[in-house]
Amino acid sequence: MADNLALGIDLGGSKIYAVVTDPDNRVIADAKIPTDPSAGPEQTAAAMKETALAALEKLDLTLDDIAFFGAAIPSPVDPETGDCLHAVNLGWKKASMLKIMRETFGHDFKLGNDGNLGQLGEHFVGAAREFHSSVGYFIGTGLGGGIVINDRLLTGNKGLAGELGHAIIKVGGRRCGCGHRGCVEAYCSKKAFVKALKKEIFKCGMHSLLPIEKFNPETTNIKSKYLSRAYNEDDPAVRKVVDKGLRMLGIAAASACAVIAPQCIVLGGGFVESMGDQVIIPFKAAFHRHLFGISPADIEIRISELGDHAVAVGATILARGSFQK
Ligand SMILES: [Zn+2]
Repeated sequence: MADNLALGIDLGGSKIYAVVTDPDNRVIADAKIPTDPSAGPEQTAAAMKETALAALEKLDLTLDDIAFFGAAIPSPVDPETGDCLHAVNLGWKKASMLKIMRETFGHDFKLGNDGNLGQLGEHFVGAAREFHSSVGYFIGTGLGGGIVINDRLLTGNKGLAGELGHAIIKVGGRRCGCGHRGCVEAYCSKKAFVKALKKEIFKCGMHSLLPIEKFNPETTNIKSKYLSRAYNEDDPAVRKVVDKGLRMLGIAAASACAVIAPQCIVLGGGFVESMGDQVIIPFKAAFHRHLFGISPADIEIRISELGDHAVAVGATILARGSFQK
């Protein structure tokens, strides 16, 4: 406890990732285990504890040596109650996650949404660290987001702020997993890319270099590395679908700027990690065209610096509650 260490856990759809950070927000140990998608909240909390203990073991420490505890959940988290409202990827409806985490760990906890905490991490120790207001988009299987204004994470009513993937950019547009039509997630996420590629390749007969064993009519998801490889080889179908998705994201980000006017936009998530900064080109073209009032030179577009660590590090920052720059 003397070192004021913090524990941060990122509960993802495929893995649980835990980090321990020192007071300078540096990761000094980490551990990960696969997520059991059939497990309920209690069992998952126990698996999160197991992951945390594995990270602590590397430092020869126990939970009692930790001063601050935080975790990110793939669901909106009610800031008043700590309840997780709906974790679609885990199949959970309402769960009293904060209570369960406190009971499982025997320590107080801070909980937040994964996209929100990813941006909190980038804002304080990553790509947006020299700014006071920033917005982040994280392209993975879905499209996560987070908003920080004047160095404060915006959680909003029932913790539902920053659900940027469900901003509607096209009325009557593509059907989104949330049930609405025209959400930006329906254009710019791996789920959306897979759906659009299937249509282009198997319905419209467009040429593609994607290997058939990795991409066929039964495919529901694809690893980012196959998409980025095909993109870099100038695969016509992948270029068309991904560039359109990034342009739609640029429009969504420009709309967010009209509402929030941040100093910096961060692009991150597994897909961006794999593609690198070339995602900025199609994004920026649409983004700049749709900005209102502000000069493009006054908004920085940055690629995530924390990568896979962003969400877990953001959970430690939430846990510390030190929103100062
Ligand atoms: Zn949606």
